[in-house]
Amino acid sequence: MDIGELRGEMLWDESLAGYTSWRVGGPAKLLYRPADRADLANFLRGLDADEPLLWLGLGSNLLVRDGGFPGVVIATRGRLDVMRRDGTQGIYAEAGCACAKVARFAAGAGLVGAEFLAGIPGTLGGALAMNAGAFGGETWPLVRSVEMLDHRGEVSVRRPEDFEVAYRQVKGPDGEWFLAANLALEHGDTAQAKARIRSLLDRRSATQPTGLPSGGSTFRNPPGDHAARLIEAAGLKGMAMGGARVSEKHANFIINTGDASAADIEDLIEQVRDRVQQHSGVRLSTEVHRVGERL
Ligand SMILES: Cc1cc2nc3c(=O)[nH]c(=O)nc-3n(C[C@H](O)[C@H](O)[C@H](O)COP(=O)(O)OP(=O)(O)OC[C@H]3O[C@@H](n4cnc5c(N)ncnc54)[C@H](O)[C@@H]3O)c2cc1C
Repeated sequence: MDIGELRGEMLWDESLAGYTSWRVGGPAKLLYRPADRADLANFLRGLDADEPLLWLGLGSNLLVRDGGFPGVVIATRGRLDVMRRDGTQGIYAEAGCACAKVARFAAGAGLVGAEFLAGIPGTLGGALAMNAGAFGGETWPLVRSVEMLDHRGEVSVRRPEDFEVAYRQVKGPDGEWFLAANLALEHGDTAQAKARIRSLLDRRSATQPTGLPSGGSTFRNPPGDHAARLIEAAGLKGMAMGGARVSEKHANFIINTGDASAADIEDLIEQVRDRVQQHSGVRLSTEVHRVGERL
């Protein structure tokens, strides 16, 4: 690696457990916290073209295995966080902006349509990668354009038509990552938007184990059904492996009760998947992304 004048933070052999909402995961060979977009582009230019790269937002949809990630992790949280109004009905936000911040900024600016983002505990980059959504709202219908960064540090602007977007799944051009997005919103009332945010957060804490370490919904909902219903019907609420347990409050959440390893969580995911299939014939597919190596 040829490292020139870099202003970001470079952490070798950094444990990823502190960067994921499950609080598990082995080390990254190198974790980079860029100072800003120009610094990140500079960093990428110095990397070998075949260096494995993982972009990490708030790690709220990521199971990093205990053996860690044998490559470079770009950690955007708190770093790529420029946000501003874009024209009269839009917002420009960089990938590291927390979804909650985007929702509050939009409401404060008298723009509506992004309230659902308030309870999603990830970054805008993660929301774009996942097409995150809640309570009837989804990320991509808001997207006017995105800025992408590639392995050589080159930026390009792309439109939604350049992506295949589905339920919690987005396929874009290979070797490019989300740097920022322009979101199109509607004019509305700030007080009403803030009230809607509060009511969506209340609904969430009534139905989800929000204060405990988890990866959110483990499985995608199959067409016409709910993963949580199928897991509950198979009698799996409370099922545990090591320190990992199927939540009693929301069966599609797997909780780290304190000392879970990534292997405990992954083994429990597979057990749940097999048991649901035996019970209902439905093979669930995971929403959480799994990366890295097992020990
Ligand atoms: C308690 C809880 C509740 C949740 N509720 C919801 C919900 O209501 N709706 C919902 O959709 N999700 C929900 N989630 C899941 C999660 O918050 C979302 O998927 C979120 O969008 C992930 O964002 P992140 O920044 O944490 O991404 P990460 O977990 O860091 O990464 C997720 C994936 O996106 C990729 N990625 C991250 N940043 C970029 C980037 N800039 N460019 C390209 N790829 C990138 C990563 O490589 C990885 O593959 C919940 C999770 C938890 C823990």
